Parts: sequence; C-alpha cells; structure tokens
Amino acid sequence: MSWFEKLSAVEALEDAPLDPELVREFERAAPRVAGRPIRFSTPTFKAYSSCDLEGCGKNSFPAFSVTAGGCALMCDHCQAKILEPMIPATSPETLERKVREMIATQELQGFLLSGGSTRRNEIRYERYYPVIERLKRDHPGLKVAIHSALLDAPRARSMADAGVDTAMMDVIGAQETIREVYHLERAVDDFESTLAALCATPMEVVPHIVIGLHYGRILGEPAALDIVSRQRIHSLVLVVIMPFYAKPGTFATPSTTDVGRIFIETRTRIAERQVLLGCARPPGMHRRVTDAYAVMAGLDGIAFPADGALGVAHAIGRPAAQEHACCSMKAGRTIKLHPRVEMKL
Ligand code: SF4
Repeated sequence: MSWFEKLSAVEALEDAPLDPELVREFERAAPRVAGRPIRFSTPTFKAYSSCDLEGCGKNSFPAFSVTAGGCALMCDHCQAKILEPMIPATSPETLERKVREMIATQELQGFLLSGGSTRRNEIRYERYYPVIERLKRDHPGLKVAIHSALLDAPRARSMADAGVDTAMMDVIGAQETIREVYHLERAVDDFESTLAALCATPMEVVPHIVIGLHYGRILGEPAALDIVSRQRIHSLVLVVIMPFYAKPGTFATPSTTDVGRIFIETRTRIAERQVLLGCARPPGMHRRVTDAYAVMAGLDGIAFPADGALGVAHAIGRPAAQEHACCSMKAGRTIKLHPRVEMKL
C-alpha cells in the first residue's frame, strides 16, 4: 500500500488537501527516514489541546521577556506579538524571584530568556548573567535557553560562561528580507558570524529558520540552510510564517507544498543533525497538512503537533514519543507513544 493510501486511514486528514506528488517524493526518500524516531513536544508557555496528546498542565518550561512587550525593531511579521504571552522580567531581581518561586511551586525545570531587540537586532542580557549563575549553582539540573539575537564572539563567550545551556537565533539568508521585513541595516554575514560565534562555545546552538519570512514567499531559505549547514549546530528548528501576527494584507500564507519542499531540502542537507518543527505555524487544516509533511519528510520532532501527526507516524512506521519541554531543549517528562521505542532524551 502506498503512503498516500495509508494516509486515508488517518481520520484527522480526511479532507486534507495533500499534494500526491509531494507525498510520492516523501515516500521515495523513505529509506532515509525508516526507523527514525520522532518526538512530539508540548512546551507549557502556550495552552495546548489535541485529540492525540495532552498538555502537561504545569509551568515547567516558561518563557520570560527582559523587555516585557517592548521591541525597537517591530519587524513586519511579528510586531513584537511573540513577546505578549511571555512573562515580563525587566530586571534581574524579578527574574530570580519568579524563577525561584516557580521552582518551589510549579516544578519548573528550565526557562527561555527572550526579549525585544534594539535597532541593531541585539538584546543586552549581560546584567542577567549573575542571576543565571546563581540559579544554576543552586539548581544544577535547571536548563536555561536564550534567544541570542545578533552578537559577537566575546558576548557569546560570556553567555556560555554564565551557564546558558542553549542559544537560539533566527538565521536569515536574504538581504532584502533583513532590510524590508526586519527594517534592519545588518548584513547576512552578521547572522553567519553570530552563529559561528555561538557554535565556538560549549552551548548547544539551535538556529531557527522561518519559512516564508519574505512576506510569505520562499526567498532566503536555501541561503539560510547554507549558513546553518556550515556550522556545528546542535539542531535546527523550522517554523512557518504566521500572517496572523503581521500587518494586515502584507503577508501571504506559504503553500503547504512549498513548506513540504523546504522540509525535504532541509532533511537532505542537514542529514546528521536533529531538525525540529517549532511552535509557530499557521493553524487549522494548513497545520494538519504541514505536520503530516514534517512526519513524512523525516523531521525529528514537532512542537504542539496537530491532530493526525501521530496517526501519520504510525501509518508510515515511525516510532513516536511525547515530551513536555520546549522542542529545542532536552528537559522534561517523556511519555512513550509508540510501543517500539524508548526515546533517549
Ligand atoms: S521578531 Fe523579535 S525583533 Fe522582530 S518584532 Fe518580534 S520580538 Fe522584535
């Protein structure tokens, strides 16, 4: 039975507009994917419900913003909306108090530190480093992730010296996108040198590529994959542009076929490292199809999987597990979903 026929048994994809040619391409590459486990992550900084998986209900991996809702860049695709659900921590004292409270009362296992950018797409975290050092000293198992934005080698080293476990950054491969979408006067090379500086430290470096970042078109993604493939990253997170957050009428939604083709290209070019589908992607049927393609393309993890993703994994024989942590982190509780494998986390 072909994969396309097998998918007809997945109820959540009953009316899904799957691209038969693309599904055949995924199937042709099946030997590359066979037996490769997939993990479904349900971080807790967002409410989650799905027929297949349950949210964990505890605040075990929250996100904090060092600028609360403020951002000087106001990129066209985001307009600082990504910061809205984060917990404000505009002083080191606030961060320390909140983290210690949450460790005591909510089984906090780690956190993401983020914030709005300066006009140069930098975020000044230095005054938070003594807090991170103290928290890590008192709670060695605590996992700390940071959205690094752009930085140089000395600043990457001080981030690592503070005890940060994971550094994440968006990698942009097109100068037009940096200028027009981000309103930023920085070069593509600055993104590569930041990634190189982070990769020269002991931190786990997890770059993100936003598919459709140029107003919904595919433009800088192949160049961003070039950059990422040249560095010793820990893993790569792909997300899909969410026109919902953008200025009305400025962004198109990339087709699921375009997104699926980027998945194939990524899997081919980043074969040895983990490639994960992150939280952000358009909702509804688009998300179901995107997630089905991610499973078939052989991505290694999906955050907040849509209904049907688990069914697709079963249908094509991929072992699956659920974990409660940000998809870029290895903290969290693991629940085995498929009898054939025990996930190593
Ligand atoms: S993507 Fe980052 S820099 Fe751009 S508006 Fe959103 S928070 Fe600010």
